[in-house]
Amino acid sequence: MKRRNHDSTLLDNIDKSSTFRILMYSTKDYDKLSFDAKLKDLKQPEKYEITYIHQRLSKDSVKQASGYAGICIFVNDDGSREILEKLKYIGIKLILLRCSGYNNVDLKSAEEFGIEIGYVPSYSPNAVAEHAAALVMTLNRHIHHAYNRVRNGNFRLDGLVGFDMNGKTVGVLGTGRIGQFTIRIFRGFGCRVVAYDIYKIKDDDRNALGFEYIELDDIYAQADIISIHLPLDEKTKHLINAQSIQKMKKGVILVNTARGGLIDTKALINALKSGQIGGVGLDVYENEQKYFFNDFSSNIVDDDILIQLMSYPNVILTAHQAFLTYEALCSIAKVTFENMHAFITNGKPLNTPQM
Ligand code: NAD
Repeated sequence: MKRRNHDSTLLDNIDKSSTFRILMYSTKDYDKLSFDAKLKDLKQPEKYEITYIHQRLSKDSVKQASGYAGICIFVNDDGSREILEKLKYIGIKLILLRCSGYNNVDLKSAEEFGIEIGYVPSYSPNAVAEHAAALVMTLNRHIHHAYNRVRNGNFRLDGLVGFDMNGKTVGVLGTGRIGQFTIRIFRGFGCRVVAYDIYKIKDDDRNALGFEYIELDDIYAQADIISIHLPLDEKTKHLINAQSIQKMKKGVILVNTARGGLIDTKALINALKSGQIGGVGLDVYENEQKYFFNDFSSNIVDDDILIQLMSYPNVILTAHQAFLTYEALCSIAKVTFENMHAFITNGKPLNTPQM
């Protein structure tokens, strides 16, 4: 029989007598599949025990972490000071984020309470960039309308006129891992790409990607399409607001696959109403916690702003799915186990977020 390939970096030095018990919050079937598959691949899978629960980490569910060594959470779990304090009293020493953003965890409080945080800095940055491009192309070529029309036997083309991507100017906010893949994709379409970042990549790398850095206001003035790839923090919260929108080209297409809080959604709605913004693709929404990842098809969605966005023909909403590829899920599971292993052996996860 063929031997399984073991992941050599993992589990070599684990104390044979103990099992490391983790409670995984906000688990979906695809998480369980990828984590179970990775677990089987380890040399000593019996050294880990993962309990999967669907509930989000919240005031109501925090007690369930009692008896575990650590917890594993996702983007919409509540990592506020109040929750972290409760986790400390329960005895939790490790929180593993299975995502690259960590804006939902109060890192200062975690440090104060002696809780180590691990995260997955990069899994498939291309996956998010590809989703951003899909949102742009759906809006531009009205694929969502065409799909419904044809299914209803309506083969007319009125109202489906798009524009050539070739030659258009795309503004990319944030030239980190995802931003750089986004630049590559839009350059492939023949677009001119202008970008903004507080940290600029080396000239050689920038030339190879074929884009230029310009001031934020110049991006607003020049871009036909703007794609956001920044982290959410105090400096970037509501970066896209009434004032910045006013500086944009009329009819601009705006896409956000980063974090909902980067956009002031009320200002966005006003700009959609006035036509200042021509189309919006959102994979994230600032008040997504209650709704995203859940089925509300038989319930009332009582967030009027979300309802408004859902009803506009030139708005495409996806529920924080830009990361969701097979490759990304495998990579998230692998890095999360590496973080766990490093914590068990050295007391620190392999990847810890910066404060
Ligand atoms: P990254 O850290 O590689 O890149 C972020 C870039 O933003 C960096 O180059 C940094 O210098 C720049 N930056 C930070 N603060 C800035 C500021 N105030 N002004 C200008 N530039 C600033 O991050 P990434 O992996 O490319 O992720 C980007 C975003 O995508 C994050 O918000 C992350 O949470 C989000 N994300 C979303 C999904 C999804 O499924 N929708 C999946 C993964 C990541």
